[in-house]
Amino acid sequence: MTAPRTDWHARVTELRFTTRAVIDGQLVDAADGATFERISPRDGQLLAEVAAGGERDVDAAVRAARAAFEDGRWSGLAPAARKTRLLRFADVVEDHADELALTISLEMGKPIGDARRIEVPALVTTLRWFAEAADKLVDQLPHVDPSALAMVTREPVGVVGAIVPWNFPLTMAGWKLGPALAAGNCVVLKPAEQSPLSALRLGELALEAGLPEGVLNVVPGLGPVAGQALGRHLDVDVLTFTGSGEVGAELLRYSADSNLKRVYLELGGKTPNVVFADAPNLARAARKAAWGITFNQGEMCTAASRLLVQRDVADEFVGQVVEAAKSKTVGDPLDEATQVGPVVDDTAMRRVLGYVEAGREAGASLALGGNQALTDTGGTYVEPTVFTGVDSSMRIAQEEIFGPVLSVLTFDDLDDAVRIANDTVYGLAASVWTRDLTTAHLAARRIKAGTVWVNCFEEGDLTVPFGGMKRSGNGRDKSLHAFDEYTDLKTTWIQLG
Ligand code: NAP
Ligand code: MG
Repeated sequence: MTAPRTDWHARVTELRFTTRAVIDGQLVDAADGATFERISPRDGQLLAEVAAGGERDVDAAVRAARAAFEDGRWSGLAPAARKTRLLRFADVVEDHADELALTISLEMGKPIGDARRIEVPALVTTLRWFAEAADKLVDQLPHVDPSALAMVTREPVGVVGAIVPWNFPLTMAGWKLGPALAAGNCVVLKPAEQSPLSALRLGELALEAGLPEGVLNVVPGLGPVAGQALGRHLDVDVLTFTGSGEVGAELLRYSADSNLKRVYLELGGKTPNVVFADAPNLARAARKAAWGITFNQGEMCTAASRLLVQRDVADEFVGQVVEAAKSKTVGDPLDEATQVGPVVDDTAMRRVLGYVEAGREAGASLALGGNQALTDTGGTYVEPTVFTGVDSSMRIAQEEIFGPVLSVLTFDDLDDAVRIANDTVYGLAASVWTRDLTTAHLAARRIKAGTVWVNCFEEGDLTVPFGGMKRSGNGRDKSLHAFDEYTDLKTTWIQLG
């Protein structure tokens, strides 16, 4: 067996980016020829000029998806046949894992090790899981009056518009594409302007894998232009979105102003990571706390951005977290040793540093970091940052920072912990660390969040749904529940006598 190649810098020169939209099985420029630049956050250099899709391009993609859906080239296949084709798609993606990993490292700054070992495998696993589910779904025959036969069936909705963010560009796309395609829908995918290259290559690989033309279309472009056109399109049946609350609200307005398409939102979070003094292994919890705010540069909807520590152990515990965060290697995402790459762009970096300033001004104490790092690279790197003495009312405890900035708060008992944990508009995820079964169950029950981890963080697999409560959204990705988003329930009532 040959050793895996890790000469990522050399391999950059071998990369050929796909920069044109994927519409109806063809690679096409924007109808008006417009392009936008993708600058790499690792060094501030131009990576590629990408087709900037506009209203006409989105319309062409939706029409292609509609035609593909209506003629049954995809929806009309036996589910087992869709399964086979989606498994082939997953295989082709896996065959191009290095290329895709390198592309996302370059375009959005994810450390190559995480891109190669977490992000791309997550996409492959997701595609396979939903492919395998395609021919295992069953519908219902409820027990009704014997004079009738009632059937409750699920049908694909038709055309799905998927708008995704840049922080996990392939995983998020996979969470939408897997169930949407397995259920028989056709899709128009709008990637974030920061991560169009991996999505376009994915669209091209789908064609190489033999997905019929028009089944998966990818239109890159700017949110307010391409994203808005998709959101307002009269022939899109379902919009599925992962991103910020502000844009989520726009999508609801687009729906209201157009065709009342269903809108599923996976939005931001402000995860409370709640550590009780009786946590089974405080050292491990501290390492996870540091990982939870530095993994993916803190650019994670579930980032463990609020650390709630029981007062008796706070000093010692926070000391361990600071040590662990300090030891993270911030660096070039193409270096295998890098644990924290650059934040996604200059705007994001200024936003994150603005929150550091807000924390200082509010009176929180900076225990680590707080500055831009590696300034001579031309990239947008931020030091892992820890604030202690944070009050729940401060902006750094309330707003999603989306960078490696941790806010540490203290609590006295379970009631206090739950009150602070729930003192947020978000409800995406939470972690609870305790040895006590009752504390664990009560905290898990009382914290309002779509996912609660006990004595772990960021665990799970495809069998469990993922999504938010409160302003973290209304949709659920992953698991068989994801099919609810991409299917319509139909009742057929047959009178027999
Ligand atoms: P974002 O700014 O909301 O953008 C998300 C997507 O929406 C992008 O494709 C964006 O395109 C598009 N968009 C922007 N303005 C639009 C408009 N007016 N109409 C239609 N589409 C528009 O979010 P982001 O910065 O990419 O991602 C970070 C956010 O995603 C964070 O809030 C994070 O918590 C959230 N997130 C949530 C989950 C979850 O599962 N709950 C997972 C990951 C991330 P452009 O890039 O061209 O602006
Ligand atoms: Mg954006």
